[in-house]
Amino acid sequence: VNHARSVVEFGPINKDTPLKGHFDKDDAKFVNIPAYAVQNRVRLLEKNKLAQQLSEESPLNRIEGEGEIGIITSGVSYCYVKEFVSGVSILKLGFTNPLPEKKIAEFIKGKKAIIVVEELEPFVEDQVLRICAQNRLDVPVHGKRDGTLPREWEFSPDTMQRLKDIVSVKKAAVPMAKSDMKLPGRPPSLCAGCPHRGMYAATKKAAGQTPVVYCSDIGCYTLGVQPPFRTADFIICMGGGAGAAGGFAQVTDQKPIAFIGDSTFFHAGVQPLTSALFNHHSIVMVILDNRTTAMTGHQPNPGTGRHFGGINTDALDIETLVKGIGVQFVRTVDPYDVTSCVKVMKDAIDFDGVAVVISKCPCPLLLKKEKRLEKKVCVVNQDDCISCFTCVRMIACPALIKRDKSVEVDPNQCIGCGMCANVCPKKCIEVRQ
Ligand code: SF4
Ligand code: SF4
Ligand code: SF4
Repeated sequence: VNHARSVVEFGPINKDTPLKGHFDKDDAKFVNIPAYAVQNRVRLLEKNKLAQQLSEESPLNRIEGEGEIGIITSGVSYCYVKEFVSGVSILKLGFTNPLPEKKIAEFIKGKKAIIVVEELEPFVEDQVLRICAQNRLDVPVHGKRDGTLPREWEFSPDTMQRLKDIVSVKKAAVPMAKSDMKLPGRPPSLCAGCPHRGMYAATKKAAGQTPVVYCSDIGCYTLGVQPPFRTADFIICMGGGAGAAGGFAQVTDQKPIAFIGDSTFFHAGVQPLTSALFNHHSIVMVILDNRTTAMTGHQPNPGTGRHFGGINTDALDIETLVKGIGVQFVRTVDPYDVTSCVKVMKDAIDFDGVAVVISKCPCPLLLKKEKRLEKKVCVVNQDDCISCFTCVRMIACPALIKRDKSVEVDPNQCIGCGMCANVCPKKCIEVRQ
């Protein structure tokens, strides 16, 4: 973790570095068949020794200040130490693998105590304890192992106060703001008009009382975990939902429905799909193709036809790919047409085998960014509205404002996608240009 920012000064930039080189073939070095692998293991250990030497000599591993207490720290933790702790000697590590073991041992010698300040797991601390043992250094080491510092969460100025019984620690000049107000939780949610809303609403309706497991993955669509959708029963890692879906098909009578974004599908979804086919698993994979990698800032992926830097490239067609590996049930749907999606999802859930539904609709935020979003907004005809709240219950769009006996639309948020109009039983929501 290194949630910090600062001005960065570039050193000289070497503009002479060639952009292309030449691959010099060397089987013994690059082809790790057993006969070569045993030799390469020796080479690797020799290289590690050289790296160790580099670490010992590196200016990135430096000692600052003097004091009986030594602090060994790295990364953003160093900034907390510098800002709040005084009267100590600091070994600032900027080259942590391999660690400069000799330098660390020399630093520890003669100190009254050592504190290791690092975020998350006690990686450096465990090595420091080993170095102490190997060098017979009888110096107390404080850190996460003895509970001086917490192992959970990131550090803060308050965390440094936990060192005040050992060293001199300043209080933050401006204490961290605390409010007595009980603020409502504001978890992130799918945007107004997000196409995932339509697909989730349709899937829930199609599944009805059928026992299903919603296998989710990493992307905006993970937010389906929230009500009213609740379409994320677990996430593991990229592609993990689709992979686990096969396992659920094997060991439960619940129908696995795996949601996966287009980027994640290209990255790690093709393999689990192939595995499901090979193993005759009965699963539904819903590929939420929003034509981008939305969650991380609209990066291109192999399906978008754009490369990094906006360069045009060939777009890989998901439907062709899925059919090409042998999936028999493949349907491409428009998630804004929720009613049609319900029918397709019912067929997919009933299908005995691998069913793939591609929900194809660009992320509206991307369209807005690229100035391709048509100006539309929906309005509720209040005379015809029967206050059934189907629109709110099914789509839960943040642009829909639920009043006691009516529904209104926030024109500032609404993008006129028409999902709410699609599910309204009275057809009293109109999309206007
Ligand atoms: S960024 Fe796009 S895909 Fe993500 S929640 Fe918003 S509309 Fe949906
Ligand atoms: S679904 Fe239609 S009728 Fe029902 S509350 Fe919404 S706008 Fe009114
Ligand atoms: S048309 Fe309906 S669902 Fe779409 S953004 Fe507007 S209020 Fe939300």
